[in-house]
Amino acid sequence: MPGFELFGDLERKELNDVLENGVLMRYGFDGMRNGHWKAKELESAIESRFDIKHAQLTSSGTTALNVALAVMGIGAGDEVIMPTFTFVASFESILAAGAIPVLVEIDDTLTLDPTAVEKAITPKTKAVMPVHMCGSMADLDALKDICDRHDLYLLEDACQAFGATYKGKKVGTIGDAGTFSFDFVKTITCGEGGVMMTNNDDFAVWADQYTDHGHDHIGSDRGAETHPILGYNFRISELHAAVGLGQIKRMDEFIAIQRRNHSILKGALSEIPELSFRRVPDPEGDSCGFLNFFMPTAELASKVVQAFKDRGIDSFWNYYENNWHYVRRWDHLKNAKSLFPISEEVRSRIEGIKDQKFPQSDDLISRNISCLIKLSWEEQQVRDLGKKMTEAIRSVL
Ligand SMILES: *Cc1c(COP(=O)(O)O)cnc(C)c1O
Repeated sequence: MPGFELFGDLERKELNDVLENGVLMRYGFDGMRNGHWKAKELESAIESRFDIKHAQLTSSGTTALNVALAVMGIGAGDEVIMPTFTFVASFESILAAGAIPVLVEIDDTLTLDPTAVEKAITPKTKAVMPVHMCGSMADLDALKDICDRHDLYLLEDACQAFGATYKGKKVGTIGDAGTFSFDFVKTITCGEGGVMMTNNDDFAVWADQYTDHGHDHIGSDRGAETHPILGYNFRISELHAAVGLGQIKRMDEFIAIQRRNHSILKGALSEIPELSFRRVPDPEGDSCGFLNFFMPTAELASKVVQAFKDRGIDSFWNYYENNWHYVRRWDHLKNAKSLFPISEEVRSRIEGIKDQKFPQSDDLISRNISCLIKLSWEEQQVRDLGKKMTEAIRSVL
C-alpha cells in the first residue's frame, strides 16, 4: 500500500482515453465514447484476475458494503456480526441498511474470533462480516463453517487485503460476497472507488441495478430502461475507473514489492525475541501491505511508539489511540449521533456498546504496532528502516 506512490504512464494513458472522448459516465453515450468503457473493462479485469463470476464497481469501498448488504436482503432489525477492529465503514454500512451492528472480539489474527462469532449468533443474525485487516486474512474456514451451519451470509470486507490469498483462493471471493476499496490509500487506487464481488448470479443482477437507481440496463436507450427494483446512485465514474484500470495492470508488481519489503522488515524485527508477530492463517497468502507485531505489554508498546517518533519513524500505527479503527474511540457510534431518527431498537443496541467489554481485543490492540509497507521503498531503504526500528525497540526493553 498505497498504489498512488507509483502512478505512471499506464494510468495517464487510460485517463487520457476518457478525457479525449469526453464521456465521463459509465453508462450510455455509446456513439461518443469511441469504444471506451473503462468501468466495464475494469470489472472484466477484476473478474479474470480474481477468478470470480461478477464484479460490480461502486463509488467507494463503503458503498460496496452497502450494495452487498442490500443484495443479501439485509435491513431493519437484522443483525450483522462484525469485529471490534476495523474501519468505521463496517458499522456505517450496517446502520445505513437499518440493521444492527453486533461487535465481537478479535483474536491474534487481528480479525474476527470464530469462537466469539458463534457465541454472538441469535435468531436475528443474517450475516457475518470478517474484515481482513492490514493485508492478512481471517480464519475463513472456521467462519465459513459457522455460516454454513447457521445459514448465514459470509460478507468479506477485503478492502485492506487486495491480492491476498487463502489456501489458494483469492481473499474477497470466498464468501457470498466480498469487497475491495480503491480509495486513495489502498493498494490499488482509483482516487475513490470500490467493488463488490460475488459468484451469485442474482446478487450480480441486483447489484448492477441497485447501484444505478434500479435501471435494468437492457438496450442502449437509458430513457427507455425500466426499474425492476428501487435503487440508489453508487456509480463509479469513467475517470476513476480509468485510473484503476492502469493500476490493476500493475497488481502483480505491487504485491511482489510489498512481499519483498515485508520480508526484509520482518527479518530485521525477528531478531528481537520479546516481540511476536500477528498470526496469519495462510502465511503464503499474506498480501504484506502491513507488518503487525505485538509487544509483551501495552506499556512497552507505548514506549516503542515514542521511540519510533523520536527517531523520525512515522510509517506505523498503534490503533489503541486511533479514532478510526478501534471500538474504544468510536464515541459517535456509542452515543448514536445520527442526523435522522433511528429506530429505538438500533439506538439502544449501539448505545449498549458503551457497556460492552472487549478484554481480548483491548489486550491485542494495545500491544500491537502496525507498520505500513510502502511500495516506493528501495531495498536498502527498508534495510535501514529495519535497523532503525530494531534499535528503537531494543532501547525500551
Ligand atoms: C478503506 C476501507 C473501507 C472503505 O473504503 P472507502 O473506499 O474509503 O469507502 C472499508 N473497510 C476497510 C477495512 C477499509 O480499510
